[in-house]
Parts: sequence; C-alpha cells; structure tokens
Amino acid sequence: MTRKILVLPGDGIGPEIVAEAVKVLEKLVAEGVELELEFGLIGGAAYDAEGHPLPPGTLASARAADAVLLGAVGGPRYEQLDRALRPEQGLLGLRAELELFANLRPAILYPQLADASTLKPGVVAGLDIMIVRELTGGIYFGQPRGIRVLENGEKEGFNTLVYRESEIERIGRSAFEIARKRGKKLCSVDKANVLEVTELWRQVMTRLARDYPDVELSHMYVDNAAMQLVRAPKQFDVIVTTNMFGDILSDAAAMLTGSIGMLPSASLDANAKGMYEPIHGSAPDIAGRGVANPLATILSVAMMLRYTLGLPDQARRIETAVGTVLDRGLRTADIAAAGESAVGTSEMGDAVIAAL
Ligand code: NAD
Repeated sequence: MTRKILVLPGDGIGPEIVAEAVKVLEKLVAEGVELELEFGLIGGAAYDAEGHPLPPGTLASARAADAVLLGAVGGPRYEQLDRALRPEQGLLGLRAELELFANLRPAILYPQLADASTLKPGVVAGLDIMIVRELTGGIYFGQPRGIRVLENGEKEGFNTLVYRESEIERIGRSAFEIARKRGKKLCSVDKANVLEVTELWRQVMTRLARDYPDVELSHMYVDNAAMQLVRAPKQFDVIVTTNMFGDILSDAAAMLTGSIGMLPSASLDANAKGMYEPIHGSAPDIAGRGVANPLATILSVAMMLRYTLGLPDQARRIETAVGTVLDRGLRTADIAAAGESAVGTSEMGDAVIAAL
C-alpha cells in the first residue's frame, strides 16, 4: 500500500533543509518503499501565496496524508501581522486540527559531538532520552483564561490548568508504548504535591502501569526533574509530562546536546499518524545561504519511518548513516568545533545519501 506524505517546507531555512530530507525519501522510493510525496504551503509562505498561514488546501491534504514532514515557519517579516495570521498559527492549527496530542522529543547526543554540549562530556556522551509531552491540553488551552480588571482597578491575569482522565490516559498509553520499544523505563513528571490536576495525573499513570508490567514506572516532581536532567541526564529513558512542563523540560534536554540542528521531533495522534519536524525554527539569520544543518530534518524522517510507517529497520539505517557521516568528520557550521572547516546543507544531505 502506497503511503502518502505531505511535505511542508515553510519559511526561512525550511525549504533548504526539507530538500535534503526529501532526497532521503526519494532514495527510499527508488529502492522500492511505496511512498507518495505531495508538497504544500504553510506559515509565512502560505500567507504570501494565499493570505492565510494554514490554507484549506493544506489542511485537506494533511488530513488525507499518513504523515506530514514540516521544515519550519516564521520570520521577522511576519511579526507585525494579526496574531491569527502569523505563521506559528499555521503550525498550531495543524496540531489542533489533526489532534496531534503526543509530542515526542528525543534528546540524543551522538558521541562524536560530545564536545558541543556545555556539560562535561562524561555526563552527556551517549545520551538518549525521549520526552513525551502532552501537546493539545493543559494550561495552554484551558478555559477560562484572560486578563481582567478587578474592582479596585488592578489587573489580574489568569489561566486554567485542566486535564480530563481520558486526556491523561491517552498520553500515558503513548508513553508506555514508546518505553516498551526502548529501555522500558518511564518517568512521569508532575507536581502532585501542589497541583490537584497532577495528583490525578499521577493516579492515572499508576493505574495504567498495571497494563504494562514490562515497563518500570517512576514518578518525579518537575522541580527535581529539572535538576536531575542537568545533574545526571542518563538516568532517564522516557519521560512523560504535561504540556507546559514538557515544553520547558524538552528545551532543557535539547540543550544538553548543544546542537539544536541535530534534534528531530514527532507529534502523533491516537492512530500514530504524525507530523514530523526539526525542533529548531526557521533560522532567518542564516536562511538562503545554504549553511543550515539538515540532519534534524533527516532524523525526523527516521522518526516518521519508525512511528508512523512501521519501518524501524529503515529508520535505523538513516540514523546509522548520520552517525557514519559524523564519524567521517563532516560538520555543518553549527556543529563544527572552532577552526574546523564546515560543509554546506546540500553537501551534508548528499553525504547522508552516500552513507545510506
Ligand atoms: P531558531 O531555532 O530559528 O534559531 C535559533 C538559532 O539556532 C539561530 O542562531 C539559528 O541560526 C540556529 N539554527 C537553528 N536551526 C539551525 C540549523 N538547522 N542549522 C544551523 N543553525 C540553526 O529560533 P529563533 O531564532 O528563536 O526563531 C526564528 C523564527 O523561527 C521565529 O519566527 C520563530 O517564531 C520561528 N520558530 C519556528 C518554529 C517551528 O517552526 N517549529 C520553532 C521555533 C521558532
């Protein structure tokens, strides 16, 4: 059965890095993997062409596709637009419309790049953790929210942290399933000592654990988790947490690796349909110069093969090819050590193809 992939290059370096990931997909197609690629517009590029960051045609194609590969959106040109028309709304709209509630953010440090971290190499070399963040609920979406004026004239801002059992259960099941495919250790991060919502979170995770006896579940308060991530990050295998805690912890975890251009991500729905994208943004400072690192986007393709397309061997092949290229000493500017010479975006993509 031919699987459909919608490719959304987006803005800034998006088209440059996505072009390299597409080369990888085309190589797989040439080898007989049945994939059909369709291209579409999102973000600023969609606003320029069609007046909206998420045009109806893009949304329809995304619904029809098995997976979406996205570059990045945004740029200074669009910052003055009404909030509803800004590029980021294209991305948020797509996540919400497709109900992509499970955000998978691996933090992997290739041993070859251990010096890129600000932490001691011994603390981070070989790091391989997966943060599973709830993406469509919690305080970022809870109602009521707003800024109101009190009787005494003072303003008060308020948001609502709310999770239903069913929302906790579905993200929990995703995380247990992922832990099962990895090191079989799951740490649920909450603030159950202070927040009732996360007391419920902890209860649901504990209940779910009975269905996954092969996975070792632990619980940690978010403040301790932040500390442990910096102190001894290799103690973690899979972390599952709420939208806001995950937002913060996954950026901290990404930075442990020191190389934003290396990290992929996935956002999945209940049927493992997903959107795959690098964690970095559109990097307007280097856009159009052919120097961006395409490896995060190429590694996003590997995640797509593993989590949506059910082709783990092909996923591993791509990850191994990236390792081979790093072993050979190829570095884009963002991961090159001082004085080391750097290759461009397409040279890096070609090297991955050759290593495949
Ligand atoms: P950014 O991630 O785009 O860039 C941060 C720094 O990292 C920059 O110096 C950039 O040059 C560098 N960088 C990022 N990706 C790189 C790569 N692949 N290779 C080499 N260097 C890379 O973050 P920012 O500067 O805060 O945001 C720029 C724009 O991107 C903004 O409009 C922002 O809203 C948007 N953004 C989009 C997404 C997304 O599409 N998912 C995520 C974050 C930010």
